[in-house]
Formats: sequence, structure tokens, C-alpha cells
Amino acid sequence: MANRGKGYGPPLGNISEAVGNTPLVKISDRICPAAVVLSSPPSSRASFLSNPLSSVKDRLALAIIETAEKNGTLKPGQTVVEATSGNTGIAVAMMCVTMAEPFSIERRKIMRMLGAKVIVTPKAGKGTGMVEKAVELAEKNGGFSKVFLAQFHYDTTGPEIINDLDGVAKLDYWVTGYGTGGTFHGAGKYIKEKSPDTKIVLAEPQAANLIGSGIATERNADGSPASSHPAFKAHPIQGWTPDFIPLVLEKGLDLKLQDEMVEIPSTAGVEMSQALARKEGILTGISGGSTMWAAVETAKKAPEGSVLVAMLPDTGERYLSTPLFADVKAEMNEEELAIARSTPSWIL
Ligand code: PMP
Repeated sequence: MANRGKGYGPPLGNISEAVGNTPLVKISDRICPAAVVLSSPPSSRASFLSNPLSSVKDRLALAIIETAEKNGTLKPGQTVVEATSGNTGIAVAMMCVTMAEPFSIERRKIMRMLGAKVIVTPKAGKGTGMVEKAVELAEKNGGFSKVFLAQFHYDTTGPEIINDLDGVAKLDYWVTGYGTGGTFHGAGKYIKEKSPDTKIVLAEPQAANLIGSGIATERNADGSPASSHPAFKAHPIQGWTPDFIPLVLEKGLDLKLQDEMVEIPSTAGVEMSQALARKEGILTGISGGSTMWAAVETAKKAPEGSVLVAMLPDTGERYLSTPLFADVKAEMNEEELAIARSTPSWIL
């Protein structure tokens, strides 16, 4: 009730001004008895306006577009092409987006609703095919009509976490996953600079092995990852561990930023997302559940009273058609199922 009636302040000039400043929320001992776990949810109902498109990528997209406009990389009328698993594409919501087939159908619908042109690349080409298509489209649009999106978590997510805890608690562990690596490298670098004792915990799918595998350690003489990297195995955590070498790794950014690694067993992320929804009222996606699972495992081994922050990258509503909602679907009665079947867009 603490914030009831407080309001947001004077009217915002436009919706982009609502991006960022998501609250940290304490997780109860129903999820984690051993330690104080705080999560950084992008869009529980209460903080919906903090990230109007409900993911950690909102502030990123805003910073990218603003910076590109300021430095002249992006000029009026140009097309922005983004290879995306969905959240950055939704956040960018510009003229032209490509995405690989395995990502949820609701992401595509939301991007189209926002006026983006969605180009779905074949499953067989995986993430690499998606990026190649983005390059092709950007080049077709001529010369400078492309903006490849770098990551801005150093300027946004990192400071938000440090500022929120300033004078409140010492941050013992910061737990995150790894997709493009933007959150890990950007926010992680800021957190280490400001709070060197904070341990960074990196979670990755047990089935895949981007970080644990040779990709991180097998380096060419110049420090870039060796091209003979293992093929990454399929895993259920959308947004994590893509089957291409993220740009941040190509640029040789420091993977040693992590102090610990936690491997997430296949269904653990879904189960933890469901527990967060049912026990805490926090509706987050599969990567959010996976990160929380890693945080709870870390907390079990940490000294009592440790403070952990787990990143919850997006809302669970982005997963209505996925196994995250399988239990819910199974609970629907015949009447509900009949309505669902007779509604053409019933999955969404
Ligand atoms: N979770 C979800 C749902 C995502 O879309 C992404 C971004 N692909 C991530 C986690 C990973 O974040 P990052 O790209 O900053 O490593």
C-alpha cells in the first residue's frame, strides 16, 4: 500500500518517457527461505508504466534510438532493421524487423500491432540465418539505412540497481542470464565498478553451452572466439544462449566478469516462473523464472542474510502459447475450450 495514491507526477510528453526505473521487489520466503532476494521485474501490474512494452529491452531501445538520432547514424525516414527474438524488436517497434521462427507467436503479433514489418526466417537457418537476413535487408535499403543495435545497459540498468540499493542494502550477488550478453556485460561492468564485492552469477541452460563451452575459452590469437565453436543444442529458454556468436563476444568482451555459473535444468525455469506467478503474483517469462531459479540455488549456498538481485527480463504474457501456460490450458473446462476453439485467435 506504500505507494498508493502517489501517482506518477505530471503527464508524460509521450510514452517513451515512461521507460525505465523499474522497482526492485522483495521475494518472500515461500520462494527463497535462505536469503533476501530482490527481483527487478519489468512489468508486474504495478510497474507496467515503468516499461510500457513490458521487457528489459524498452530502456535499451530508447537509448539506442536516441543516441543514433543524436549522433546522426539514424536519420529521418531511414529503416531500422533488427534481428530479434522478440523483445528488442517489440521495443524498437520500427519499420522492419526480422525474427527466427522458433520464438513465440505473440511476439510477432505485438510487433505487427506496433507497425513493424515482421520477416520470419526459416527455423533451419537458426539465429545465424536471422542475422544474415537482417544484414541483407539493411544493405538493400542502401548505404546508411541500417542501425545495428549495441547495448546500453551500462548507462541504464546498472545504475538503476546500484541507486535503488544505495543506503538500503549491500548487494552480495547479482544474477542474470545471457542472450546477446548486453545485460551481463553492460550492467555487470557497472555493478563491478561501483560495488566490487558483488558476485556476478551467470545462468545458462544446461542443454546449451555457450559460456561453458569452447566458445568462450577457445580463442584465436587476436582474442576473437574460434570459429570451430560447437553447435549449440536446443533449449527452452527463449532469449537465452543464441546459436550465433553474440557481437559482444566477437568484440572480445570480458567473460570473466562472472564469479559463478549456474546451469538451469530443462523445466526448472518454467516451474519457477509458475511459482513466481502463483506465490508472489509476479508474472514473468521463462528466462525470468530461470534467473530466479539460479538466484535461489545461489542463495541456498550463500551466507545467511545475503542480498541477491535477480533480473526478470520480460512479462509472462509474452508466453501464452508456450509450455509456460500448459498447466493453465489443462485446467480450462469444456465450455472455455469451446469458446477458445471458436475464436480464431484464441491462443492470442
Ligand atoms: N530474456 C529474454 C526474454 C530476452 O528477450 C533476452 C534478450 N534476447 C534476454 C533474456 C537476454 O538479455 P541480453 O540479450 O541482454 O543478454
